[in-house]
Amino acid sequence: MPLYGAIEAGGTKFVCAIGSNPEDLELYEFPTTAPQQTIDRAAAFFRGRPLAAIGIGSFGPIDPDPRSPTFGYITSTPKTAWRQFDFAGAIRKALNVNVAFETDVNAAAFGEYRWGAARGLHTFLYLTVGTGIGGGGMANGNLLHGKMHPEMGHIRVPIDASVDRFPGCCPYHGDCLEGLASGPAITGRWGAQGRDLPSDHPAWNLEAQYLALGLVNWICTLSPQRIVLGGGVMRRQELFPLIRSKVSTLLGGYLDPPEIVPPELGSRAGVLGAIALAEKVAV
Ligand code: ZN
Repeated sequence: MPLYGAIEAGGTKFVCAIGSNPEDLELYEFPTTAPQQTIDRAAAFFRGRPLAAIGIGSFGPIDPDPRSPTFGYITSTPKTAWRQFDFAGAIRKALNVNVAFETDVNAAAFGEYRWGAARGLHTFLYLTVGTGIGGGGMANGNLLHGKMHPEMGHIRVPIDASVDRFPGCCPYHGDCLEGLASGPAITGRWGAQGRDLPSDHPAWNLEAQYLALGLVNWICTLSPQRIVLGGGVMRRQELFPLIRSKVSTLLGGYLDPPEIVPPELGSRAGVLGAIALAEKVAV
């Protein structure tokens, strides 16, 4: 069986893997530091192994368009050392293999499509709710791309100021969805991390409301067959029934909501998705 390399590149850590499927995966994690140093460390893990290709799911924004002169670059990230860094090119040069390059969220979506909760679907949404909020997925069998890629966390949703006075914490927009409902938003609003709040805390009802507002917009736009909700915040399983109920209410009987489910690959969705992306570009 051919072996593939995978990189799930986050702003704080890199998860690298060698393998071919969820049962066969050798993992190596380390903190994200300066670009060249981080690439060297990843390349040292892969070097000498017979890899058919390497898939990368990266933090961004990125340029995922293979026809673009800056394909494979991280573009306008707030992490300044990584801005305009040719990530895919650096890996290709270091290891002389074909490289697939995607957003971290689309990679996770592709992992769930290949081996998890989105198997057999052609149109679905994958949302991660954690340090930030990111969305990806597929429409008609193609990963979602456009001028660049979706930035679904930064949509605007209605705010009821009689319920929520938190100004939001997105450095670009303040009270976009990410600014209102990411993990740091929960901490900023309630003065405690989500993991320390009890199940009956009002934080969860408000969190479910904001996420449901986002989902209803995407349901009406994309018509997904299923929605997969992952990320650290969604480890609070009690959010799922709250979100399903609020989505139904917001849709007002006009549409049947799609299934809203947790990922089947858990925290391995991103790195497994990168393996699946590598399969596609292997020669
Ligand atoms: Zn924003």
